[in-house]
Formats: sequence, structure tokens, C-alpha cells
Amino acid sequence: MNIDRRRFLSQTTKFVSAASCYGVFPTLHHSSALAQSATTKTPASSAKPQLALTMDDPTLKLNSTMYWQDANARILKAIGSRNVRAALFVCGMRVDESDGAKLISAWDQAGHLIANHSYSHLFYAEQTSYSDFAVDFLKNEKIIAPYRNRVALFRYPFLKEGDTAEKRDKFRALLRERGYRVGHVTIDASDWYVNQRLLHRWETAPATKVDAYRDYLIAHLLDRAAFYRQLAIDVLERDVRHTLLVHFNTLNALVLPDVMNAFESAGWQWIDASLAFEDPIFQRQPMIVPAGESLIWALAKESGRFTERLRYPGEDGEYEEPKMKGLGL
Ligand SMILES: [Zn+2]
Repeated sequence: MNIDRRRFLSQTTKFVSAASCYGVFPTLHHSSALAQSATTKTPASSAKPQLALTMDDPTLKLNSTMYWQDANARILKAIGSRNVRAALFVCGMRVDESDGAKLISAWDQAGHLIANHSYSHLFYAEQTSYSDFAVDFLKNEKIIAPYRNRVALFRYPFLKEGDTAEKRDKFRALLRERGYRVGHVTIDASDWYVNQRLLHRWETAPATKVDAYRDYLIAHLLDRAAFYRQLAIDVLERDVRHTLLVHFNTLNALVLPDVMNAFESAGWQWIDASLAFEDPIFQRQPMIVPAGESLIWALAKESGRFTERLRYPGEDGEYEEPKMKGLGL
């Protein structure tokens, strides 16, 4: 997916325009886990900033020496040690065999949300029609249907929500019709790229220690979290409950406990994903084209006030490459 992401990104249009916001999402259906908490308060400005872990693209093929069973156990143990519930965004094609059900079941039984990340991970821009994207989204419903903690949250692959206003709005209408909300990311990052470089290094230097990659990953995630937190405060004049995007991969399986520790040391508080998604910010639908990126990025873009702070795409490996090369990673 990562190589694909870069290739697709190079094909996407760079034009972005601002517009005004509208509307509110309907209430969620099939989402008892989201409805459990009664509070809809947002954190006070003096409180610790809060974030939930959201993990995308669980897979049976890690392209490394680690088996999915080991990765899954490590990741679930790390999250469980904080006594919080995460959200797992499942892309069907990566888990569509019997072992895939075992992988997802482990998350479901631990109480984590099971959500829809499409079947084929299509890039919703000029190369993908509305109808193809819609069919692919619906195809994935059967993958996550069996699970108790399934919720009607959809996360767009690559965080790309349509390259025209028509395609953007048609798919948003379909989500509404199906009772879905968008499982937005507020803190986007390029964890997948750090993992990709580590795996590549291991091909020629299998004894390479993970430490320096872990340190880079942690610094990168904390940096992006600080950026999106401040941007949210500047755009919305309040702290929001954040959703951090990380991926199901070898590096995260090895270092997730350190990542979670580092956020706590930096003053963040881990919360349940169901609680995070109750923040009213997740009802916003930024009217930008192309649509997508971090929700905070999109709202900032829509406001028209923060152009100098918004690169496009919001995050990508190309931004990390020179820094990692400079460090010999
Ligand atoms: Zn994905």
C-alpha cells in the first residue's frame, strides 16, 4: 500500500479550494460500543490533551520475518496495558481468509472497535469512479459484519475523500444512507514509511537494530501530534479529542509500548476510541476539493486562514525521506 500511496499521490491534483461547512451526520446505527459513554463533553483547556489509538490495515502478510500472530499479540498487549480500547480499521482484501477472522476476532474479543476501511483500498481520486468506490465499500461490510464490536465508521483509504465536489458529496450521501460516519484521523503521520525503510534495510543488513527507527518514529509521531493539536486549537479555539493513525506493521508491533509511553511522558492521555469519536468535531464535513487528509488539516484548509501551514498532502514519506537519510536510516 505504501508504494501505491506514493505512486497515486504523484498522480493526484494539487488544487485545493476553500468553501463553507454544512450539515451534521446522522446518528450512528449498529454502534452500541459508541453509545456506551453518556458524556459528550470536550476536554477543558487545562486538562491533558487526549488521544485514541486507531490502527489501519491489519494484514496476514507483513513482508518481514514476523508472523501476523506475533504482531497481533504484541499490539493487543501494548494497547491492553493502557486499559483503553482502540479502533481497528479493516481493509478486507488483507484479511479475507480464515486466519483473517482469527486476527479480527482477537481485537473484537478485547473490546476494540471494528470498523470499515473498504475492501480494496482504492484511491478515491480521478482513477476511481464513485460507483467503483461505493461497491468496494459495500463489499467490505460482509468482512466486518460478524463482529460484536463492529461500528458504522468508515475510514477513507489514504484519507482521500474525492477529487470533485460531486464525487465527494455522492459518497457522503451513501455513508449517511448506510448509517455511517467518517472514522476521521486528526493526527496523521507517516509511520508506514518508517516501517518500510526498516524492512528495506533488513533486506541487506538483517542485524540492524530497531532502536534508531523506534526513536525516529516516536519523535515523528510526537511532532505531528503537537502540530495537529496546535492547529486544532487555532482553527477551533479549543482542544479536541484526537485520533492517532498508525498501521498494523512490524515496527509498530515491536515498539508500540514505547510509543504509548512516549505520548504519556509528553503529557498526553490515552482514551477509548469510542470516547474520542464522540467529540462533535467528528460531525464536521469540510467542503474542500480535493477532499480528505487529517480532519484538522481539512478544517484549517476550509477556513482559508492557515494556508502557510498546510502542505499537500498533509503527510507523506517524501517529507521524512531526507531526514531519515540524513540520520543513516
Ligand atoms: Zn489504509
